[in-house]
Amino acid sequence: SAIRIDGKAVADTLLAEVGQDVAGLRQQGVHPALAVILVGDDPASDVYVRNKVQRAEAVGIRSLEYRLPANTSEAALLERVQALNGDASVHGILVQMPLPAHISEASVIQAIAPHKDVDGFHRENVGSLSLGQESLVPCTPAGCMRLLRTVLGEDGLKGLHAVVVGRSNIVGKPMAALLLQADCSVTVVHSRSRDAAALCRQADIMVAAVGRPAMIGADWVKPGAIVIDVGINRIATPEGKTRLIGDVDYPAVAPLAHAITPVPGGVGPMTIAGLLANTVKAARQQTGH
Ligand code: NAD
Repeated sequence: SAIRIDGKAVADTLLAEVGQDVAGLRQQGVHPALAVILVGDDPASDVYVRNKVQRAEAVGIRSLEYRLPANTSEAALLERVQALNGDASVHGILVQMPLPAHISEASVIQAIAPHKDVDGFHRENVGSLSLGQESLVPCTPAGCMRLLRTVLGEDGLKGLHAVVVGRSNIVGKPMAALLLQADCSVTVVHSRSRDAAALCRQADIMVAAVGRPAMIGADWVKPGAIVIDVGINRIATPEGKTRLIGDVDYPAVAPLAHAITPVPGGVGPMTIAGLLANTVKAARQQTGH
């Protein structure tokens, strides 16, 4: 049976490294700081923001939390972002998505100073990633790369065929760029792909980022493949409760994969760790330490 990739353990190792980096910077008089902005009162976003702030503080990063009402105007939000852009004591800025419908997410993302864009969504960071230049990389795909390297080693991705299922700006597209950067041959499968299962069966590495519970079954996976499941789907159980499952049918796929991430406990924990690592990186770049 497959290696079960322990994302919690890998994330804890990364968080410990980040904590040491933060301690080192603080000794040099730099206190890395992350500003998190939440507009409205979406309960899922509220949990995400609370987690990010708590984790930041746990590794010694200063956090600033801005909770703005749902009827905040786009202009007022942009003003808040500009103020944080100009505040040299703040190194990372994150605006929690989704935003209320009257605010353009694209405008807000482009308003964040690229060197403070710890989500890596600004077009300058997207462009740098695409060019293979140094940049702030989106946290979830960066976490997937780290998990792959725990299985394959630093150079082990070279020449492998990677299939990414999903082409979102926050996961699928940056994932494909990172795999290409690691010398994989990359295929991106999406909702309009013809015979997605046949394409996936050619994958040495498969990354699923779709948002459809257990869509990827045994007939989508080549025996011996490494399977990274980004999906987080809440489903009802027969007992009338809910639980989280991924995009991959874990019980069906695990017996034939070489290695596979569980949900929960796989990619999920890597995302916040990546965010905090990006905050430290941003602080180093801005202060020259
Ligand atoms: P999205 O809805 O923006 O994109 C989904 C993608 O899947 C689209 O590009 C679409 O083309 C593709 N798709 C839809 N149906 C398909 C089909 N039948 N066959 C092939 N492709 C299909 O979603 P997203 O933001 O990229 O997130 C994807 C999943 O990952 C969600 O479950 C989300 O909750 C999860 N997620 C997890 C983390 C984490 O920290 N682990 C972070 C971000 C997203």
